[in-house]
Amino acid sequence: MHIVDAEGCYLIDANGKRYLDFSSQLMCSNLGHKNQVVIDSIKKQAEDLAYAMPGYATNARAELSKLLLEVLPKGINKFFFTTSGTDANEAAFKIARMYTGKTKIISRYRSYHGSTSSSIAATGDPRRWPMEPRGKAQGVIFAPEAHCYKCPLKHSYPDCGLACADYIEHMIRNESDVAAVLVEPIVGTNGVIVPPKGYMQKLRKICDENGVLLIADEVMAGWGRTGEWFAMDLWGVTPDILTTAKGITSAYVPLGLCATSEKIGDFFQDNYFAHGHTYEAHPMTLLPAVATINEMKRLKLVERAKELEPFVHEKLVALKAKHPSIGEIRGHGLFWAVDLVKNQKTKEPFNTYADKISGKALLVDQIAGKCLAEGMTIQAWVSHFVIAPPLIVTKEEI
Ligand code: PLP
Repeated sequence: MHIVDAEGCYLIDANGKRYLDFSSQLMCSNLGHKNQVVIDSIKKQAEDLAYAMPGYATNARAELSKLLLEVLPKGINKFFFTTSGTDANEAAFKIARMYTGKTKIISRYRSYHGSTSSSIAATGDPRRWPMEPRGKAQGVIFAPEAHCYKCPLKHSYPDCGLACADYIEHMIRNESDVAAVLVEPIVGTNGVIVPPKGYMQKLRKICDENGVLLIADEVMAGWGRTGEWFAMDLWGVTPDILTTAKGITSAYVPLGLCATSEKIGDFFQDNYFAHGHTYEAHPMTLLPAVATINEMKRLKLVERAKELEPFVHEKLVALKAKHPSIGEIRGHGLFWAVDLVKNQKTKEPFNTYADKISGKALLVDQIAGKCLAEGMTIQAWVSHFVIAPPLIVTKEEI
């Protein structure tokens, strides 16, 4: 597909055909396309100061930091700016290891945390496998995901008493050297998996009681997608480190953020953090983030995602009622997955990762292809597709 233009919730190809962008591209174009305020901020920053090295203060950095303090979970107030979600996670792992003096990171299966060697090593899905020997050397161990529809521990909620959280505590107590627990608060690529009630609070308590940091990877789930500024706000839980990217600039320019608690930030006043990039805190990425956050506030997009949640849910429930190959629909705000199964009772996935890498035609890809032909984009992945329209979407467009 050759895209030449875009506006609002639509992409336009070289033949002039319009596509409703129902995935916000890679769940990142939250403000939609051609937002003039963001475009103007890019022009302004290019004219004022295209680049200054990361050690300097800049107006854009000061303005963005002030806004971040307003929207991030309370208590997260030290910022390290990167250029992607992947390198925000790289920074988080190094910070956690230096701060705690420990090495191991507990990640969970069915997660995605990026594509560099450390972040893919922390990824709980098969994209990690080709890197596995290095992954092990990098000290990541995996816990079961909190996925009630297909509980890996074969429990059912609430009788399970949140056994998946207890399992993590068991790991911490039986492993030496655990620095942090890493979670996507709502798992993104691997199927918009929402943890059960009480899970995140319990994980916070387990981390506190065992002197382990909690890292929330909000690269995809952050920035209003779930109907809160950050998914952790759904449960009122503050992590020690929060990483994010994508929606921070609504993908107009590449920016990532690794944000920490004051205590962790202060530690690095006295301890040299051997980390950084030429393009860290690049002014051209920071002013568009200021414009994005201001636009989100002006257009009340976080509130909008929450308001539209029951409407999207109702539409997806109707879709499921018509299609026996839909096993579950799940999500929050404007962040939903439609999970495809061969059989609703056995919940056997319609396709597997092995099908994908063997080149077999996947049902989700056929559905995404059909949507494209009809003028709509969705994100297909193995046996589910994600629906995550820009937060400016209207009821008519839905
Ligand atoms: N973490 C999560 C949860 C993601 O969804 C992604 C990308 O999809 C990443 C990290 C990696 O971010 P990036 O692609 O900006 O490097």
